Amino acid sequence: MVGELWTPGGTVTAQKEHARPTTQGPTEREARRVAEAARQTEWTKPSFGKELFLGRFRLDLVDPWPTPSPEARAKGEAFLARAAELTERIDGRRIEREARIYDELFGELADLGAFGMKIPEAYGGQGLSNLYYNKALALIASGNPSLGALLSAHQSIGVPQPVKMFGTEEQKKRFLPRVAAGEVSAFLLTEPDVGSDPARVATSATPDGEGYVLDGLKLWATNGTIAGLFVVMARVPATDGNRGGITAFVVEADSPGITVEARNSFLGLRGIENALIRFDGVRVPAENVLMGVGRGLKIALATLNTGRLSLPAMCVGGSKWCLNVARGWSAERVQWGRAVGAHEAVATKIAFIAGTTYALESMLDLCCMLADDETNDIRIEAALVKLYASEMAWKVADELIQIRGGRGYETADSLEARGERPAEVEQILRDLRINRIFEGSTEIMHLLIAREAVDTHLDVAGDIIDPDASKRAKAEAVARAAGFYAGWLPTLAVGAGFMPSAYREFGPLAKHVRFVERSSRRVAASIFAGMARWQGGMERRQAFLGRAVDIGAELFAMTACCVRAKAEAASDPTGVELADAFCEQARVRVDALFTALWHNSDTSDRKLARKVLEGRYTKLEDGVRHIREDLPWVAPWKLGPSTTPDVRRKLPKRG
Ligand SMILES: Cc1cc2nc3c(=O)[nH]c(=O)nc-3n(C[C@H](O)[C@H](O)[C@H](O)COP(=O)(O)OP(=O)(O)OC[C@H]3O[C@@H](n4cnc5c(N)ncnc54)[C@H](O)[C@@H]3O)c2cc1C
Repeated sequence: MVGELWTPGGTVTAQKEHARPTTQGPTEREARRVAEAARQTEWTKPSFGKELFLGRFRLDLVDPWPTPSPEARAKGEAFLARAAELTERIDGRRIEREARIYDELFGELADLGAFGMKIPEAYGGQGLSNLYYNKALALIASGNPSLGALLSAHQSIGVPQPVKMFGTEEQKKRFLPRVAAGEVSAFLLTEPDVGSDPARVATSATPDGEGYVLDGLKLWATNGTIAGLFVVMARVPATDGNRGGITAFVVEADSPGITVEARNSFLGLRGIENALIRFDGVRVPAENVLMGVGRGLKIALATLNTGRLSLPAMCVGGSKWCLNVARGWSAERVQWGRAVGAHEAVATKIAFIAGTTYALESMLDLCCMLADDETNDIRIEAALVKLYASEMAWKVADELIQIRGGRGYETADSLEARGERPAEVEQILRDLRINRIFEGSTEIMHLLIAREAVDTHLDVAGDIIDPDASKRAKAEAVARAAGFYAGWLPTLAVGAGFMPSAYREFGPLAKHVRFVERSSRRVAASIFAGMARWQGGMERRQAFLGRAVDIGAELFAMTACCVRAKAEAASDPTGVELADAFCEQARVRVDALFTALWHNSDTSDRKLARKVLEGRYTKLEDGVRHIREDLPWVAPWKLGPSTTPDVRRKLPKRG
């Protein structure tokens, strides 16, 4: 399979050295096969992102700026108004102090309808559009970011979204009203040995005639200690006539055999109820299988196409909050005879925070409205927003800490005790950090997006580098590639971006739109050059691919800003200023990324890292106390009944 060359892992050539399990489990090649099989292969709708990486700047797919329907807007705004009232009452500091969301708040959120924002009204939910769902998430999370994690784990990846998308009518009727009313749900994929690599899923689902019996251990399930329902990914064994495979089950959390063994705690998001959960002979009826046996990872990936937008929503909310603090503080704090914001070193940080906040909001809103319109395939754009927003919001928070000086490092309680405004700046940094890791780490997002970016090339020419392809297939691919590239390559040489009058309708932003058009062709040419140079080996060039994807993300961000600013220019001229400033910043980054594509330290870094892992420089680690070595990096575990007490948290019953 051609695509198999291109999933997180390695090339066919490189794979020979690596095609063995690092510990017991699937080989690298099997891991790639599983990930590739879960990919949605068809493109039935146009994709701005896909075209961008092919050097075709399809502005028409995103311009004019979409608008929500009057009904969606009215419903959404009314919900936001009610959510704003609740958010004002949230005691975020209490959540932080007690490291838990207090009981009463669950009831208030349920009364608001916050657990059913994405669920259609027919099943008891609010039926909000993606746009308003994510605005509401950002708003409520500003009360405390753990609330964003609670609501998003519940409905972006927990029961509501996959059941809404893939459930039967009977399953929708059975589960959706429950979760819409406030019964919390959780999503259980990760295991001690399963992180970025779902091929390793070891939780088994053994058919027992009427249903399945689940056995295994699930790690880091957000909401796991309080959920009434889980979506569990477990492996059905292959039998005669049934290929088995990773399957999604809706599981009642109080089923016999389930033990919540621990509540985990983290750097940030102190209020989340994240759990280690054991399954020992847990019976699940066959009617709780979602979409069919072996479709679990497809469900997970398709769910994330829009589900992934909720993390950027948190990043947008976080950045807005940072901007607010940065402005207030930097205008008032005077050092060296001036407000600190008037010193250039601080001013550039304020400009970065403001420009980035505008860009993140523009990207997210655009993606949400495209998802709501259902006219475009947004899988690449949503992935780009997740990647970009999580990285940039983290930088925004870091810059805010710097701007706040010592007070940035001080806790809100400590500030307040001294009679100062309790800005939770150190907390926002801690809370935002996880976004770069979960729902696809930055490294995995780079590979996932790169895979989509080269999809056309693999379709056309993949068989040429596929060692499993027959001679005939290779010959056909050569002919196909010759035809495609003869037509495609010349299109990279010329385009509207070279014409000074192009995109005039964008006024002062036209120059940036032209830059995006030119850069789109340039990044496509760079990817092609990389493929020509490394062929199948390009997949191992993760640093190169990461930069190419980052360029795409910047270009998408610039496009979203310019299109939005143009649309809103008449009613709000500040958008043009913010978009212009952001684009100036983004262009500096894009130029640096283009340079680094070919001028970098990747080769020496690879060599150095290998030697580090071989232990060549352990002397460098001398002179400090090391961590204890009597425990393993990943705890071993055995199947069987739990030997620890259940630590589930019972929420008060609502009358
Ligand atoms: C607070 C929190 C909440 C979570 N909530 C949930 C939840 O609700 N449900 C759930 O199922 N899971 C949840 N997770 C798990 C989360 O999704 C995983 O942490 C994430 O998928 C990464 O897996 P890992 O931590 O095992 O890292 P690993 O997979 O061990 O990766 C370690 C590092 O290697 C990199 N890496 C791995 N493979 C590759 C590759 N092929 N190429 C390049 N780099 C690679 C990773 O990017 C990372 O930097 C949660 C985790 C946390 C911390």
